[in-house]
Amino acid sequence: MQTALADFISSSSAGREADAILRSCVHCGFCLPACPTYQLLGDELDSPRGRIYLMKQLLEGEPVSGRTQLHLDRCLTCRACESACPSGVRYGRLLDIGRALAEQRVPRPVGSRAQRLLLRKIVPYTRRVRALLGVATAVRPLLPHSLRTHLPKPAARSPALRRLNRPPVWPAPRHARRVVPLEGCVQPALAPEINPATAQVLDHIGLTTLRVADSGCCGALAHHLSAHEESLAQARRNVDALWPHVEAGAEAVVVAASACAAMVCDYGRLLRDEPRYAQRAARISALARDISQLLADHAGVLRARLAAASAAARQSAPLRVAFHAPCTLQHALRVSGVVEPLLAAAGFTLTEVTDGGQCCGSAGTYSLLQPELSTRLLHAKVIALEAGAPQLIATANIGCLAHLRSATALPVHHWIELIAARLTRD
Ligand code: SF4
Ligand code: SF4
Repeated sequence: MQTALADFISSSSAGREADAILRSCVHCGFCLPACPTYQLLGDELDSPRGRIYLMKQLLEGEPVSGRTQLHLDRCLTCRACESACPSGVRYGRLLDIGRALAEQRVPRPVGSRAQRLLLRKIVPYTRRVRALLGVATAVRPLLPHSLRTHLPKPAARSPALRRLNRPPVWPAPRHARRVVPLEGCVQPALAPEINPATAQVLDHIGLTTLRVADSGCCGALAHHLSAHEESLAQARRNVDALWPHVEAGAEAVVVAASACAAMVCDYGRLLRDEPRYAQRAARISALARDISQLLADHAGVLRARLAAASAAARQSAPLRVAFHAPCTLQHALRVSGVVEPLLAAAGFTLTEVTDGGQCCGSAGTYSLLQPELSTRLLHAKVIALEAGAPQLIATANIGCLAHLRSATALPVHHWIELIAARLTRD
């Protein structure tokens, strides 16, 4: 693609990066069928190629309006287009640059600004989310249906999983080999059992999972709302919190939410120009692993533990599980085909999911900012997941988990809870 970036951006590092990405797109359109918003709306401007064209105009200094912003806002950042693109176009990075520029050039209405600010000031803080959930749960019957569906169901732990085991507790440290977790923000509030379950599984394969009080939100939420300075501040805080443990010999930074894992993997790039952080951030990114990636590195020992633990389970009918692979797992981290064999090795029966590559519509704050498109994607996803008559749905990211819970009567859990339940069965 020919480009002529405007003077105000052409010599900046973001401008040079955007220019290289734009030039790598050959307009072939192979990405279009992979794009959920193009499938729903059938408008080229709601496709990756159309959005690339809009961002090119933006970067070349042509007049922009709320229309450009609308089409960029409608993008889920699912990055399915990147997986489909034969030319390796880094669409997600271009979108970061394009959205930040649109934010500067197109003023948002007051209501939209207030909504985005509120999300940034509440969601990344576990205590604020817990407090808000407490109030919302108390007045649940009074809430409009659209808000009610976003609240976690009262019984967070399903009978299907209770049948397997009691809620996980964080194991006491007992191994010389250690990993350090990013505990996150929304996940400990909405599903506090996920991090202890992760620590339990790692304990079974010989790794102690340390506790880090000062780490928190990975920064992805602010990043995707184009509040880049806020996001960087969160990344720096996590680097400061994790670094002493890395320096003391932790061999991995483990993250149980695939969206957060993808963000931590990017710290090295995001902080590369900051002398105080560049080196430490690069090391932390190099050590960052989604729990599926870390377990793939230890698949042999985990399979041996599961084989022993699953012998008793095989005497009862296996639980049928539908696995939803989050976009961040398959398109950002490029992890596929790792979780399903581990669930099978743990004695679960995987049901077929026909649209495995499709986004569920959660996409960070997308379900709140673009509720109509998000709901259409959610319903299509739930139909696909339920088609194989599963007894339980498993996924790998807290956003998808909460979103799916809002639309199905089936229990929805993080897949690591299933593995933990199998390993620690009484
Ligand atoms: S990130 Fe997802 S929604 Fe956005 S253009 Fe790519 S495929 Fe479409
Ligand atoms: S992003 Fe990739 S697949 Fe899509 S039009 Fe450009 S080169 Fe083709």
